[in-house]
Amino acid sequence: MSLKTDSICVHGAQDRNNKTGAVAVPIYQSATFAHPGVGASTGYDYARVQNPTREPLERLVAALENGLECAAFASGMAALDALLWLLPAGARMLATSDLYGGSVRLFDQLAPRTGLRVDYLDTNDLAELRRLAGPDVKAVFVETPSNPMMNVTDIAAVREAIGPDVLLAVDNTFLTPCLQRPLELGADVVVHSGTKYLGGHNDTLAGFLVTRSAGIAERLRFITKTVGTGLSPFDSFLLIRGLKTLHLRVERAQASAMETALWLRAHPKVRRVFYPGLPEHPGHAVSRRQAAGSGAMISFEVDSPATAERVLEGVRLILYAESLGGVETLITYPLLQTHSDVPEWKREALGITDRLLRLSVGVEAVSDIIADLERALS
Ligand SMILES: *Cc1c(COP(=O)(O)O)cnc(C)c1O
Repeated sequence: MSLKTDSICVHGAQDRNNKTGAVAVPIYQSATFAHPGVGASTGYDYARVQNPTREPLERLVAALENGLECAAFASGMAALDALLWLLPAGARMLATSDLYGGSVRLFDQLAPRTGLRVDYLDTNDLAELRRLAGPDVKAVFVETPSNPMMNVTDIAAVREAIGPDVLLAVDNTFLTPCLQRPLELGADVVVHSGTKYLGGHNDTLAGFLVTRSAGIAERLRFITKTVGTGLSPFDSFLLIRGLKTLHLRVERAQASAMETALWLRAHPKVRRVFYPGLPEHPGHAVSRRQAAGSGAMISFEVDSPATAERVLEGVRLILYAESLGGVETLITYPLLQTHSDVPEWKREALGITDRLLRLSVGVEAVSDIIADLERALS
């Protein structure tokens, strides 16, 4: 049965072992599984390899991304680390210059110890991409829209520029498979921080890698089994539960984000609004072509660092906290939080200034969200 995304969210996780009629997938809190006979297996042997709560979640996320297989990890960073294990020693990777700060920390401070070198560029500059993509470049890593500047990269154009043999990984955390499916645009691997929209309730960490390639899927299973960073049964349960309403949350948050972006744009203390849904955003046309929506993340620049601080301290409904994609509206100061480990010269080049704020619009009444911003800005 081929289902629409909304129905996959609700029904995509099924317990194959269900004899009770339970509607929810249970938490199989077991570290090991007994064998029915010599050389025989129920399909589960040891929970690091696979467990019956994580497996239905992985099938659900694979279906949402239109992939073949998915691996669920203990966090988005664990998923990114597993991605790096797919690359040969000494490989070079090209990445979008404006990335989640944790990805930059992993790529710059840990990955070089394995001989991996990551070089950054504007992944929309196809001429530069072709120039850099020499034979030692084994992978390209794209985040779109990027964090926190909301730059949009044309995924299909990147695939075309790098040819079929370079691994293309896309971090789809900001838009979710409800709005963007990178595998359909030519990516080999989709990365998610499931902590964000997929979980959706700011209560658990999770990460995913999804692929269409049987070869990559097999290597991912080996990596999970070997390093043991797979998602726990309880957290898998929370993710299945969160995903049931993903489509509703994304739709609502996105509508409120558009309204909030328009309101911010008209505010005298707001200098610039970075939201791909606005027609003046440089990535607006590409975003409309490759995604079904612009999501619910907005960055905006206020008139002074003092105003930025006043907003962070003045909000009451909105929480001043790291993270995004949950039901609660959160505001972040990328300079001091998510991107504090990004070198200063790079932050400045990217536009991550002391006046930049990042808003993750949640699912409260949009009038309350705007009223809170209005109070904090005045
Ligand atoms: C949060 C985030 C990550 C890291 O995920 P964790 O679940 O926090 O480990 C990676 N990429 C993006 C775009 C993120 O927002």
